[in-house]
Amino acid sequence: MPTDRRYIPDQLETLLRRSGLSHTRARRALHDCLRMAPATTGQMVVSLEGNIHKSSVYRNLTALQSAGVIQRRTDGYWHLTDYLAQHYHICVCRICGLQVRFWNEKIELALDAYSGPGQFVVEDHALELRGLCTQCLNLPQTAVRPRIGTRLRKVLFTM
Ligand SMILES: [Zn+2]
Ligand SMILES: [Zn+2]
Repeated sequence: MPTDRRYIPDQLETLLRRSGLSHTRARRALHDCLRMAPATTGQMVVSLEGNIHKSSVYRNLTALQSAGVIQRRTDGYWHLTDYLAQHYHICVCRICGLQVRFWNEKIELALDAYSGPGQFVVEDHALELRGLCTQCLNLPQTAVRPRIGTRLRKVLFTM
């Protein structure tokens, strides 16, 4: 378990923690396996052979299921639950806190094409857009703040 105060747990760790389960190597491996594609128990035993013991695969699949990480389809295939399988971003209203989920292909392609600054490997990303929902925008005292992203970056740094 990392001790860095600034360590950010990902969704798998958050779900496990919520269920009082620890984040282990086997659970991470099973999750990563299912992140690529749904699989049967037998397929997972085979693909993780030599890495995770068969009995550990069975045991941890049950644990992941109870934590809401994975579900079993009627055809026997395990897959990640919507909470983990669906990638999305959010828009947050700075006045009322309303959150709206969104997904945009152009943003995903741009972020996937960006390899990150030197000596860093990008695995995943989170993106939050802040602003005003239409209700708060129409309040008489509301003023729209200017966007700042590109201006600030030009002054400080580029990577
Ligand atoms: Zn609002
Ligand atoms: Zn994204």
